[in-house]
Amino acid sequence: MTYDPDNIFARILRGEIPSTRIYEDDDTLAFMDIMPRADGHCLVIPKTPCRNILDASPEQLAAVINTVQKMARAVMKAFDAGGVTIQQFNEAAGGQEVFHLHFHVLPRHEGVKLRP
Ligand code: 5GP
Repeated sequence: MTYDPDNIFARILRGEIPSTRIYEDDDTLAFMDIMPRADGHCLVIPKTPCRNILDASPEQLAAVINTVQKMARAVMKAFDAGGVTIQQFNEAAGGQEVFHLHFHVLPRHEGVKLRP
């Protein structure tokens, strides 16, 4: 599978599409999901091209997971959540819609379901 350099998240990285950025370092970016399934739902992506987890290098995975952990802690605190769900989808059959590697970080409250 190839990487499309014009996918939505590549365009967000280049600043061609606006996004609410909440964290950034040399290797990764975190921003709010445009259709949040929970309050505080954000996404973490590598800055370098990567279609999904099947395509990721060990360095990309390490950098992204490190930022996922940072964001999990941050959004739990910011939204006074009791837990956090991490989701990640690969290829259309696996539920992936945007073909740039991303992890969903979803703050959770006891008894509150994710929005569809
Ligand atoms: P997935 O590929 O993991 O199934 O879903 C892609 C996610 O990206 C969805 O949660 C969707 O709401 C989010 N998304 C799609 N387009 C945009 C966009 O233009 N901006 C932002 N911030 N999120 C987006």
